[in-house]
Amino acid sequence: MSDRVYIVTGAAKGIGFACAQRLVADGHRVVLADMDTEAGDKSAADLAAGNDKAIFVECDVSDPLHVHNLIAETLGSFGRIDGLINNAGIALKGGSLDLSIEDFDRVLAVNLRGAFLVSQAVAKYMVKEIDDREDRSRLTDRPYAIVNMSSINEQVAIPDYIAYTMSKGGMRQMTRAMAIELAPYGIRVNAIGPGSIKTDMLASVNSDKKAQKKLLSRTPLGRPGHPDEVASVAAFLLSEESSYITGQTIYPDGGRLALNYTMPVAEDEDDA
Ligand code: NAD
Repeated sequence: MSDRVYIVTGAAKGIGFACAQRLVADGHRVVLADMDTEAGDKSAADLAAGNDKAIFVECDVSDPLHVHNLIAETLGSFGRIDGLINNAGIALKGGSLDLSIEDFDRVLAVNLRGAFLVSQAVAKYMVKEIDDREDRSRLTDRPYAIVNMSSINEQVAIPDYIAYTMSKGGMRQMTRAMAIELAPYGIRVNAIGPGSIKTDMLASVNSDKKAQKKLLSRTPLGRPGHPDEVASVAAFLLSEESSYITGQTIYPDGGRLALNYTMPVAEDEDDA
């Protein structure tokens, strides 16, 4: 039975919830951090039913005080932190000609500053734990790891979601910089770059046939991904199974980034 403790931000629903669910199923303890208290409370209660392995902490990742409280509550409840999934993220529409400064600031504040604030707080805790140890040669005792939920948009761009695209590009470089900085401590930092995953973030596509076809024409595997298919990558990157991987992004994208054209998409009755 694992005694490991993981923080997952933006865990009330979607990919974050799937990650929390997977980690609890693997026997770990999980802190679900989210701004949405109603959904977060319910999700944590569902996961903790009969096992006390999950708690919810209200947290706006863009607010340093909330992040400070998140770390304190995690240590107060579970006594340790072994890893983090920086998953909280938002996407607000707008390109370079029409995006408001307020929307630009909000997206960057959540997706980039928020991920940085939580990473920084968790990394400081991990480094202190390691420095306090008498025998630093046994660094692999605790396979500390941080996973950033980036996007294929760290590599390719959606022009009318420019702030989102910029935030994920920044996350790619944050992943690399922190991976190098923390490597001497044995702390690994990696990212996940999902393609199109069926969550509320994809709601506009889920309810629009034309948009769905467009999406499939860019997806060699011919379907959107399921949040569990991202959670399995997160579980891998937090585990010793990925002990020699740091500074990387893994892309569960159905083949999207490999494609240099479009895929044929079947016509259906509605279009006949
Ligand atoms: P979602 O909208 O279903 O869930 C996002 C969660 O983050 C929500 O519970 C929300 O309350 C929370 N959140 C938002 N702002 C927050 C804040 N300031 N502090 C704390 N929590 C906050 O989205 P999702 O599709 O599950 O996306 C999760 C992550 O995966 C995001 O970082 C997103 O960019 C990334 N991603 C998603 C897709 C996709 O197709 N769904 C693709 C690539 C990357």
